[in-house]
Amino acid sequence: MLLYRLGNRLSHMGESLTGLFYPRLCPACSEVLYGNENILCLRCTCELPRTHFHLDPENDVARLFWGRVMIKDAASFFYYQKGSRYQHIIHAMKYHNRQQLGIDLGRWVIITALTIASIKTVLVLNIFMHLKFEDRTFRIFVGVAVLTLAIFIVLTFFDYAFH
Ligand SMILES: [Zn+2]
Repeated sequence: MLLYRLGNRLSHMGESLTGLFYPRLCPACSEVLYGNENILCLRCTCELPRTHFHLDPENDVARLFWGRVMIKDAASFFYYQKGSRYQHIIHAMKYHNRQQLGIDLGRWVIITALTIASIKTVLVLNIFMHLKFEDRTFRIFVGVAVLTLAIFIVLTFFDYAFH
C-alpha cells in the first residue's frame, strides 16, 4: 500500500514536472488544462454548442445520409461554427493526428445519454406507472428488471473497456 502511494505520488510529480515544460492545452482555446480537465477546459466544456442530435433519430446529420448509405443512426456532438474556438478541435483531429479527442468527446455523449435515460426511467416508473401505489411483489419485479438492465449495461462497459 505504501509503495503504491509512493509510486502514485512520484507519477503525479513526474506529470507536474512534464507539465511545467510541456503543459497540456485545451484544443479549443489553447489555455492550460488543470488537474481534472482531461479534454477541454471548464469554460469550453460549459460553452460547447451541443446539438443533442442523439435524442432525435431524424436529425440533420442523419438526413445527410438518407438515400446514399444504409445507416442506423447518425449524430454530431456539437455544432461546427467557422471561426469559433471549437473549430480548432476539428482541425486538431483532422490535421494534427489527434483522433483521441473525438473518442474522448464520444464518451461524453454516452454519459449524457445514459443520464437522460436514467432520469426518464425514474420519471416513468414514478409518475406514469404509479409504482409507489403498486403492491410489494410488483415493485420487487420492477426492481429486479431495472437491476438486471443495469448489470448488462455495466458488463457492456467492462467489455468495451478491456477490448
Ligand atoms: Zn478551452
